Amino acid sequence: FGIIGCPVSHSASPLMHNTSFFELSMPSVYVPFYVKPENLADAVRGLRALGIAGFNVTIPHKETVLSFLDEVDPFARKVGSVNTVVNQEGKFVGYNTDGYGFVASLKEDLNFNFYGKSCVVLGSGGAARGILGALGEASLSELTLVSRNKKKAEALRFLIPDISFSAIQYDSEDLVECLSKADIVINTTPIGMGGLSEKSPVDNFSWVSTNQIVVDIIYNPRYTYFLKEAQSHGATIVNGVGMLAMQGVLAFKHFTQKDGSYQSLKKVIENSDLMI
Ligand code: NAP
Repeated sequence: FGIIGCPVSHSASPLMHNTSFFELSMPSVYVPFYVKPENLADAVRGLRALGIAGFNVTIPHKETVLSFLDEVDPFARKVGSVNTVVNQEGKFVGYNTDGYGFVASLKEDLNFNFYGKSCVVLGSGGAARGILGALGEASLSELTLVSRNKKKAEALRFLIPDISFSAIQYDSEDLVECLSKADIVINTTPIGMGGLSEKSPVDNFSWVSTNQIVVDIIYNPRYTYFLKEAQSHGATIVNGVGMLAMQGVLAFKHFTQKDGSYQSLKKVIENSDLMI
């Protein structure tokens, strides 16, 4: 097994999957493969020739890999992103476990159920599409998607059918009201990581209340400026470690039909030197 990405050395997936193989006494191994965008077609052909059992896909290949697969499951096709590929008797079949992993991790950690809830999602990139696809099946009451570009956000309406949906920009006068009436606010932008660690997707935290859940899917750093501010204003906060571990558990299930331990994976990620 393995993971293809560029970069890939930061990935926690080898640690997670090798932990599960070890815990379940399985004679398998999982390794990272650094694959540049221009080499993706050759890399997938090579993985086929080598008879790899399965692989994960990370930035920047989650969208482009679809055209090199034999089958893509309907959810991954709908969200346009594959993070897990299983070699099913020579056929490469793609899945997406990011969105379902996100929803399942909140259920596991907080017993949070999206049914009837009001939700705000910040950002409309690849991770957001997976999350919106899963939320589209979770019977929310309403969802507001906040983007730098309203048209881009509007184009994702199809992922959340039958739910009251609005797309707004950060400069909208409705932003604070949408945030204040949300049960859960989810940051899917990269603002808060890397060179943006002192920044936050929103500057004003007057909307935060103690009965809200504020999530940042960034896991490195563990607690972004956005999460720290939300917590200091009384919200319950959740970082991206749970989503990361749960998408791994769901990928492992596709790979092996076995259940890895979500709690073990969270623990190995938290304790690893990959975390800052
Ligand atoms: P992506 O496809 O590049 O999308 C990020 C989105 O964030 C963009 O589409 C954009 O949305 C918004 N954005 C980017 N730069 C911005 C800026 N300067 N100001 C405001 N908005 C900005 O990236 P991704 O793959 O979705 O990943 C996003 C984040 O999620 C990363 O930090 C990644 O590490 C994290 N992630 C975590 C997990 C996990 O398991 N915990 C899984 C996947 C990703 P708009 O154009 O709509 O503004």
